[in-house]
Amino acid sequence: MTYVITPPAIPSLPVRGTDDLFPIHRIYCVGRNYADHAREMGHDPDREPPFFFQKNPDTIVPDGGNFPYPDKSEDVHFEMELVVALAKGGKDIAEADAMDCVYGYGVGLDMTRRDLQGVAKKMGRPWEVGKAFENSAPCGEIVPASTVGHPTDARIWLDVNGVTRQDGNINQLIWNIPETISYLSGLFTLAPGDLIYSGTPAGVGAIVRGDVMKGTVEGVGSITINVT
Ligand code: MN
Repeated sequence: MTYVITPPAIPSLPVRGTDDLFPIHRIYCVGRNYADHAREMGHDPDREPPFFFQKNPDTIVPDGGNFPYPDKSEDVHFEMELVVALAKGGKDIAEADAMDCVYGYGVGLDMTRRDLQGVAKKMGRPWEVGKAFENSAPCGEIVPASTVGHPTDARIWLDVNGVTRQDGNINQLIWNIPETISYLSGLFTLAPGDLIYSGTPAGVGAIVRGDVMKGTVEGVGSITINVT
């Protein structure tokens, strides 16, 4: 048996300190997971249950890559996020077991066509056109937890053209990493290779062609992406 067309390549990211790749299965994203960002988007940050959306795995852009300004939008925003990479999955994972599933971490950008997302929200439509478009998931190299541990208190910030635009700490997550994995695994069967973008702190904003975004999570790493 063979495939009737050439199978697509497996999206992947480099693993720091190795020549190896982390293969990407699915990309999940947590919405409004920092109170100050929930407020800036016009929502009450009380601890409502977490909610999720997905991006397409082949929309990954590696560190140093380009983000071509997408068409059909005039308001494209950055969202700087800590990314969790899973080595194991499952369904209905207990919080106490959740961290055993984590391979490592990355530094990601949840790029968003905010105007199209806004229309989708208003019309009660799905978010894919605002969130899952081409090149919408830049992510830096994956850093194994075996080398950096499991960060719970680390500055997370994003500079655009050298000016700090977002500045928070992952200790401000409304739903922390084990809670997020546990809750998400009740809705989807998680699998090795899944990435979870954990949410963004306040300060999201628009980019234009020529901008250089540099995002960092203290102790995890950085990502630099050029808007072209
Ligand atoms: Mn986000």
